Amino acid sequence: MNVFITGGCGFIGSHLAERLLDRGDRVHLLDDLSTGSMQNIAHLVGRPGFGYRIGSALDVPLVTELVDSADVTVHLAAAVGVKLIVERPVHTIETNVRATEVVLGAAARKKKLVVVASTSEVYGKSTSIPFREDQDLQLGPTSHSRWAYACSKALDEWLALAYLREKGVPVIVTRFFNTVGPRQTGQYGMVLPNFAAQAVRHEPITVYGSGEQSRCFGHVCDAVEGLLRLMAIDAAVGEVFNIGATHEISIRALAEQVRTAADSRSDIVLLPYGEVYAAGFEDMMRRVPDVSKLQRVTGFRPQTSLEVIIRDVVEDQRTRLAAAAGSTHLASART
Ligand code: UDP
Repeated sequence: MNVFITGGCGFIGSHLAERLLDRGDRVHLLDDLSTGSMQNIAHLVGRPGFGYRIGSALDVPLVTELVDSADVTVHLAAAVGVKLIVERPVHTIETNVRATEVVLGAAARKKKLVVVASTSEVYGKSTSIPFREDQDLQLGPTSHSRWAYACSKALDEWLALAYLREKGVPVIVTRFFNTVGPRQTGQYGMVLPNFAAQAVRHEPITVYGSGEQSRCFGHVCDAVEGLLRLMAIDAAVGEVFNIGATHEISIRALAEQVRTAADSRSDIVLLPYGEVYAAGFEDMMRRVPDVSKLQRVTGFRPQTSLEVIIRDVVEDQRTRLAAAAGSTHLASART
């Protein structure tokens, strides 16, 4: 199979590309390197069947060419990370909505399958736990930037389903819940790589708010497995799927587990939201996926334990720390 991945130099995209190559598929990536990085795909460059282009998912001729030459497009390119969203709402809305329009428009020419990546953010402030794909979405007011992301991704979903109904483009929508693992950076505000980076440096682990808010963390390898299975099943077309783990943990407890796993001397400190996020930020207290639909259709549900997930992320941060120390050492040796 020939697979085109937008946002392929990102965290999920690079893992997906690697799995596809490992099983013998051909992969072409497009990324503008806004949040993705060449480092994520450095180990893939030169492998048979692998190609990449650095460019924008808003570039219609380029996207059309790449969609046309693939059997399936996985559209992961998006403005992501709560930090970015609150700081650059115009960029978020424009990137997320326009890029999806461009990809779907290109796929409509030859009715190529598109997987549109969405997010658990679309459930918004819903307290109806666990979140089911068919439940009502509960977004906050337009005056709060955080909801711009959720709203832009919800619009992407509507657009995808509309392309199927009106133009016959086969689409699958996947709502990723807190997906974590090696290669994810804490740079855009994601909690687990942040905590792990702080722990391996023995710096204070910064818990925002009371730390009583909770999340379910899924391993990126499980997310990729779910995605690959969905891509291969006709019954998935036209459907929306949650992809995530169901083991819930408070952010405070997560900080403690990371500290233990890293054998760290870090203190755990609570920071009020006002000190870390711009005005207009609202946090969600709980977010738990119902993954029974994914399991029913694919026979798969994410299962990597939180212990293993934390171990992998801590290990990744240790490797980064050692690499950074190595390059500092080299630089000082040169001077
Ligand atoms: N968070 C935290 N410390 C950090 C980064 C995030 O306590 O250094 C909190 C954040 O406020 C939220 C939770 O961890 O309650 C998960 O944040 P993340 O951005 O990873 O995911 P999302 O909010 O999208 O679920």
